[in-house]
Amino acid sequence: MWGIIATWRMAVEGITKASEMLKNGEDSGDAIEKAIKEVEDFPYYKSVGFGGLPNEEMIVELDAAYMDGDTFDLGAVAAIKDFKNPISIARRLSKEKVNNLLVGEGAEKFASKEGFERKNMLTDRAKIHYKNRLKEIKDLEIKPYSGHDTVGMVCLDANGKMTSATSTSGLFMKKSGRVGDSPISGSGFYVDSEVGGASATGLGEDLMKGCVSYEVVRLMKEGMHPQKACEKVVNDFDLELKKRRKKAGDMSLVAMNNKGEWGVSTNIEGFSFAVATENEEPTVYLTKNINGKCMHEVASNEWLDNYMKTRMAKLVEL
Ligand code: ASP
Repeated sequence: MWGIIATWRMAVEGITKASEMLKNGEDSGDAIEKAIKEVEDFPYYKSVGFGGLPNEEMIVELDAAYMDGDTFDLGAVAAIKDFKNPISIARRLSKEKVNNLLVGEGAEKFASKEGFERKNMLTDRAKIHYKNRLKEIKDLEIKPYSGHDTVGMVCLDANGKMTSATSTSGLFMKKSGRVGDSPISGSGFYVDSEVGGASATGLGEDLMKGCVSYEVVRLMKEGMHPQKACEKVVNDFDLELKKRRKKAGDMSLVAMNNKGEWGVSTNIEGFSFAVATENEEPTVYLTKNINGKCMHEVASNEWLDNYMKTRMAKLVEL
């Protein structure tokens, strides 16, 4: 059995390419890296890689991570600037004995020495979003941080090797140097080939408080189905946060076990995800949490068309 699951609709082109590789018996690490790079390279996705939205100083700082579920090798970069594919740098770092998580300038020095491709990741479109947001913050008192979607994936290959990976520009208008959950093991991602893996998206500051990806894997290790495990972690932690802090940030999880069974849960409206397995063509679903149970519905063609139209619509400066 092979399979791959990812947060958000934006991952579907990537997982489609990865599924072709997995079908041919290729390695889970190669497939997940390919899938994430696809998302990083597409300029109209404004929360990952090229075209990602900048921080409050109009600088794009990116976070990414890679984990191998056979060996527990893991590598991550945080707040890295001007490199085309942060995921590849994270994967390369996973092969090191020490220095597996590098931030900012240190990560850039490593990437440069290793010959990774440099690129100015700030697009003209992202600049317009930035300028418009500044105006909105001033005129409409809009929350500066709304607008963020991390791509997070779990992948199983035909040999039973599992990997997990993330890539993100983090929160729009974040402080320089701010790091979310995405490059943090156990929070944004976790995988164990003997069990399964999970990945998260949402408000990093809250996701980190619950080590949510690790929690899902832990529950799957106790025998829980990925769907049940995701629901339990989101529902319980959402309540816990509300009890202690009066509110809970956005929280969505995807997971797959080593049999290729998958699960998804969320505490928001309109969470989308993409999945492909040996038994299922690449499919985009929308999910809804109804009294603690998450219902998944295949996204309609109309929804899919509209998604692309809004992403690529002409953007005017306010
Ligand atoms: N979790 C990411 C972060 O806090 C953002 C997201 O997934 O939407 O950086």
